[in-house]
Amino acid sequence: MAEPSGSKRIMRPGDEAPTGTPGTDEVVCPECEGAGELIGKPCIACNGTGMVNRRPENRESA
Ligand SMILES: [Zn+2]
Repeated sequence: MAEPSGSKRIMRPGDEAPTGTPGTDEVVCPECEGAGELIGKPCIACNGTGMVNRRPENRESA
């Protein structure tokens, strides 16, 4: 498998898609609210970054 060097897309457990995926945005982690940790433990949802990559809520345009 070819592994492109340079930009490395890291997916956090709470990510819906890798960072940089079109149509997604980094948002404050809903689990830790951006703190990066939960009661003394690193937040597993955002991997301690305080941010997760999510798809914006689908807005069906009429
Ligand atoms: Zn978090």
